[in-house]
Amino acid sequence: MQTQIKKDNRPHVVIVGGGFAGLNAAKSLAKLPVRVTLLDRRNYHLFQPLLYQVATAGLSPGNIAAPLRGILRGRQNVHVLMDEVRDVDPARRTVTPARGGALGYDYLIVATGASHSYFGREEWAQAAPGLKTIDDALEIRRRVLLAYEEAEREPDPARRQAWLTFVVVGAGPTGVELAGALGEMAQYTLRGNFRSIDPAAARVLLVEAMDRVLTPYPPDLSAKAEASLERLGVTVCTGTMVAAVEPQAVTLRRRDPTLGDQDEIVPCHTVLWAAGVQASPLGKLIHERTGAELDRVGRVVVEPDLSVKGFPELFVVGDLAHFAHGLERPLPGLAPVAMQQGNHVAKVIAARLADRAAPPFRYHDKGTMATIGRAAAVAQIGRLRLSGLAAWLAWLFIHLMYLVGFDNRVLVLVQWVWNYVTYRRGVRLIVGQGTE
Ligand SMILES: Cc1cc2nc3c(=O)[nH]c(=O)nc-3n(C[C@H](O)[C@H](O)[C@H](O)COP(=O)(O)OP(=O)(O)OC[C@H]3O[C@@H](n4cnc5c(N)ncnc54)[C@H](O)[C@@H]3O)c2cc1C
Repeated sequence: MQTQIKKDNRPHVVIVGGGFAGLNAAKSLAKLPVRVTLLDRRNYHLFQPLLYQVATAGLSPGNIAAPLRGILRGRQNVHVLMDEVRDVDPARRTVTPARGGALGYDYLIVATGASHSYFGREEWAQAAPGLKTIDDALEIRRRVLLAYEEAEREPDPARRQAWLTFVVVGAGPTGVELAGALGEMAQYTLRGNFRSIDPAAARVLLVEAMDRVLTPYPPDLSAKAEASLERLGVTVCTGTMVAAVEPQAVTLRRRDPTLGDQDEIVPCHTVLWAAGVQASPLGKLIHERTGAELDRVGRVVVEPDLSVKGFPELFVVGDLAHFAHGLERPLPGLAPVAMQQGNHVAKVIAARLADRAAPPFRYHDKGTMATIGRAAAVAQIGRLRLSGLAAWLAWLFIHLMYLVGFDNRVLVLVQWVWNYVTYRRGVRLIVGQGTE
């Protein structure tokens, strides 16, 4: 007897990227009469806002990541494939993954995100890792913990201090959160753990080219964040640029109105990069294939419905999209923007399937927040500005709410309560490449 394979005539939607934008698009599309293929080079969705907690030994990778197949297991029309997309051909409506076999689509959603930028100084990447992936977070954790180990066995005071100096470049939310957690580690977590050194003697420098930390926030919240950082022993160096990064030193440059550029060489072994944005390379590819405009950091300028000009079936969302319709400034690279855009594309596709006009995208700003150490944060929610413990509790609640999967939420809550009560950061494991 011959088996008849039923042909699936439902429109095929291909999503590239299972981050906040791609995953939300997949979940919303699961309710429509379409078949969906979600491609990601990783097999998991990563909650990037908590990466700094992995980098500073507060949480384990499994607390902040969940397998895409598990998240989407109930969505029967969604097919997950682990592969990296290397090419997009909008004329033929195909995408080509690294493992070959072009995939045809009726609608394509590109949500491959962005990464940090070294402003053309890629050679700094080795000495100053950025924080974007779980591998990055584990590498940062390894370097930070190893620095204390090296300091413990270093008899020369100057060389010891170099091991105990940590430089964080960029005072946006990631830099502020990293520096705060490093300060807390030095002041509290590691207390009593060493015999030759006092971890509290560690210097944490937070370097920022602008004149204040957290520039997207109002100046009063920036000032509060700076005060909280200083309470944790962090030295905030605003108006300062990084002029050179070497394995054993970083050169800081300050512009003095009368004396001109003033350089200071800071001996240190641990430099962490939290500055700049660089869009995923698929942005450039889409530009080459469609003529779509790119912004300064390589993001694709999208239409009001998030499609690419002249290609109504091709959408770019999340950190890779430059959306500025009706706004003073383009939308920032934030998780809520990516999630809302992912959901919106599903609405646009639903409208197209029903021959209705597609609604334009509108962002509903529910606020932004950054945390500084164990019980301080700053938050702006509409006109409401919060700081201190109230902001930290709001931060905790919101981050827990948005963590994917019930298990993760419970694990993270338990771990945080434990860390909070004991000042401990229990995941202080040096794993990976071994001693430098
Ligand atoms: C350290 C850090 C801290 C942050 N903190 C906050 C915060 O506190 N609050 C906040 O709102 N936002 C925060 N953000 C920003 C937020 O994480 C991003 O705005 C959001 O992740 C963007 O979602 P996205 O879906 O566009 O991209 P991403 O979440 O980056 O997802 C992109 C996905 O695409 C996949 N991918 C990339 N290229 C390919 C390819 N060629 N083929 C297949 N798959 C590919 C990747 O594996 C990834 O899964 C933070 C970001 C970082 C890095």
